[in-house]
Amino acid sequence: MFKSDIEIAQEAKLKDIREIASKLELNEDDIELYGKFKAKVDNNLLRTRPTSHKAKLILTTAINPTPAGEGKTTTTIGVSDALTRLGKKTIVALREPSLGPVFGVKGGATGGGYAQVVPMEDINLHFTGDFHAIAAANNLLAALIDNHIHQGNSLNIDPRRITWKRAMDMNDRQLRDIIVGLGGKTNGVPREDGFDIAVASEVMAILCLANDLVDLKEKLGNIIIGYTYEDKPVTAKELSAHGAMAALLKDGVKPNLVQTLEGTPAFVHGGPFANIAHGCNSVIATKMAMNFADYVVTEAGFGADLGAEKFLDIKCRMTGLKPDAVIIVATVRALKYNGGVSKDELNKENLEALRKGLPNLLKHVENITTVFKLPAVVAINKFPLDTEAELQLVEQMCSELGVNVAISEVWEKGGAGGEILAKEVLKLIEGNTNEFEYAYDLGMTIPEKIRAIAQKIYGANDVAFSASALSEIKKLNELGYSDLPICMAKTQSSLSDNPALLGRPEGFSINVRQIKVSAGAGFIVAITGDIMTMPGLPAKPAANNIDINEDGKITGLF
Ligand code: ADP
Ligand code: MG
Repeated sequence: MFKSDIEIAQEAKLKDIREIASKLELNEDDIELYGKFKAKVDNNLLRTRPTSHKAKLILTTAINPTPAGEGKTTTTIGVSDALTRLGKKTIVALREPSLGPVFGVKGGATGGGYAQVVPMEDINLHFTGDFHAIAAANNLLAALIDNHIHQGNSLNIDPRRITWKRAMDMNDRQLRDIIVGLGGKTNGVPREDGFDIAVASEVMAILCLANDLVDLKEKLGNIIIGYTYEDKPVTAKELSAHGAMAALLKDGVKPNLVQTLEGTPAFVHGGPFANIAHGCNSVIATKMAMNFADYVVTEAGFGADLGAEKFLDIKCRMTGLKPDAVIIVATVRALKYNGGVSKDELNKENLEALRKGLPNLLKHVENITTVFKLPAVVAINKFPLDTEAELQLVEQMCSELGVNVAISEVWEKGGAGGEILAKEVLKLIEGNTNEFEYAYDLGMTIPEKIRAIAQKIYGANDVAFSASALSEIKKLNELGYSDLPICMAKTQSSLSDNPALLGRPEGFSINVRQIKVSAGAGFIVAITGDIMTMPGLPAKPAANNIDINEDGKITGLF
């Protein structure tokens, strides 16, 4: 039997984090220790100590995921360890796990098997407190809004049209829709409110897109909290909230330094949802990693249609980052699932379903290589029950179509199992001719931009807009927000907006139900289908398996 992720992580002999920092030429003054194995890195180093590293940026993404998660984080960590083994100075840059998924269905988000970042219990269980700080900044703004109304409402905010919600890093459906301010005159003005999970909050997206504290403060000030009775947007700046919010985030903006099981430095920082937000780690951490290493491997959430598209069209565009190579993770299991096999049948060999599921992978490869014009390699993340025949078939089908492919065994073997993939990545980087293009231009109209994503990336015929989406687009044009990039909120399970359409669907239309601006983060969210900004817990929450003994040893976390 295989050891669990937490068993492997707990057996590891961790290096003092100062030793990891010294590999990056960071001395003790550059870091703030959070115990022996975690540190925050001074965010000012980007400004005060620019290096001559011209780091190569490698993006890990995936095909449309199945409910189990397909191993992007695991592959990202494993290939970083492989690059380290090949003598390359490498940093892996990941998102921080949210407590919602940790206690819900998915479990932790620190990789798996022999490709993990550690200390995994700490990283998975509120780590250095960044998400709580984000929730606090979010809730400070909420408190200031309600207090403003209570104290006379000089801005004339319409309490029925406040879009800002409260936030907490927990899956708690009970708080989705609530009434606040009950209990009489001294308790504020009653109104409908609700909670979002912290990772869905705009403050999270802002922290992850900010270049520095000044930029962070400006973005926080631009947040639209709702509308006045005259239908005018009200910003956080008008409530003088942004300064104090930024002060609460003074440590939150500093990237967290940890290590992989093999001692590769890891920046684990920020964690916006990949549906309502852009789904990648912080810009500050990515840039800091590129300042102190030669190779940086980073992950974007969900499949390449969501996470990678937003990484490229939003994060890269806003910051000038440009990947040098893209790894597209696929698993035999996910391909079979896309070929119509149900979740509990995935462990059985099924070459026919594998063949049927392949077009999903090919569409993502096509998007990366022909829409974004970036070099890509498919990483087949090998699972224990994959058969030789299945692995060979995927490899052979990719090769026949001229798609670069490598089998990755990092889950089982750590960095050693990722060397073939790492060498393939290095080859791509060498041959990269740097023709990176975005999927759309910012100058296009909002519907044109959405249509470009839907047609080029999803393969849709067209886009249908609801009446309310159209009227919101009209309003955003009038308010001067039409030049912002688009953040698509769509199901991760399908290239379409219908989770049941697996594989490579054709002849479908994307239905944009709602449009909203995240003026602080700097993007327009196009919502298709039902998007959950406060998830609930499942019938059997992962929390029920987690325990701690008298020595403080945690079990059941995966
Ligand atoms: P993603 O980042 O795509 O959501 P993760 O890397 O977090 O996926 O992996 C999700 C889960 O799958 C983890 O519990 C991990 O241990 C497990 N996993 C990943 N790769 C493998 C593999 N090759 N074999 C078995 N389990 C794996
Ligand atoms: Mg992941």
